[in-house]
Amino acid sequence: MPEGHTIHRLAARHAELFAGDKVLAASPQGRFAEGAALLSGSVLEATEAYGKHLLHHYAGERTLHVHLGLYGKVTDGDGEPPEPVGQIRLRLVSDRHWLDLRGPTACELLTLPEVAALRARLGPDPLRADADPERAYDRIRRSATPLASLLLDQSVVAGTGLIFVMEALFRAGLPPRLPGRELSRAAWDAIWADLVELMTLAVAVGRIDTVRAAHLPEAMGRPARVDRHGGEVYVYRRAAQPCHVCGTAVSRGTLGARNLYWCSTCQM
Ligand SMILES: [Zn+2]
Repeated sequence: MPEGHTIHRLAARHAELFAGDKVLAASPQGRFAEGAALLSGSVLEATEAYGKHLLHHYAGERTLHVHLGLYGKVTDGDGEPPEPVGQIRLRLVSDRHWLDLRGPTACELLTLPEVAALRARLGPDPLRADADPERAYDRIRRSATPLASLLLDQSVVAGTGLIFVMEALFRAGLPPRLPGRELSRAAWDAIWADLVELMTLAVAVGRIDTVRAAHLPEAMGRPARVDRHGGEVYVYRRAAQPCHVCGTAVSRGTLGARNLYWCSTCQM
């Protein structure tokens, strides 16, 4: 599933393509026909990402809410759109650009109170200037739940997925199963600052890189990572490979339906 930086990049991209323009909306596949008809002809005023949720705010207090989920994909281009291919839930077209959305978990119109309710059920998003990390720590410090689960819970922190969480815990030197209530104030402040830094970098470059300069392939004289997720990481999907810091084989375990990755030496 795309992590928050992908959604923030989409929000910026969609503002660049359509903000200030009248947009024609359609649902070639038909599953969003009613919503598209209501939206069509409206001016896109602003876009916004909140965690993994993408919002388009249109004139007339109409908000389009998209959650890509596991399979959602967005494509766009200049000029005339191509002939519809496959299951296009939503197509947006302006005089200059087009956009196709396929396979999202959510594609719906929200009223302003529904937008407020969505925001209220999400934790602070490290990529948003209005984020309040205190709200997250308040949940974490009262909970016996493993820290990894808490940081993946979108009502605690919004936008973080498995890669950011595994990597931030490695960089903090904390095991993924540490109970939330054992996380010190100082350790939380450091994790939050690190998430802000890592996620901001990911928005800028379009992939997740978490390895410090001293552990980059060129610094260590090792081959670069080959993985469809791209980017250099410490532990995510590196089970049984040597830790870049201490050489210990990276561990893999499960927590519910999730895989966990950590270094048993660096993360005590
Ligand atoms: Zn290590």
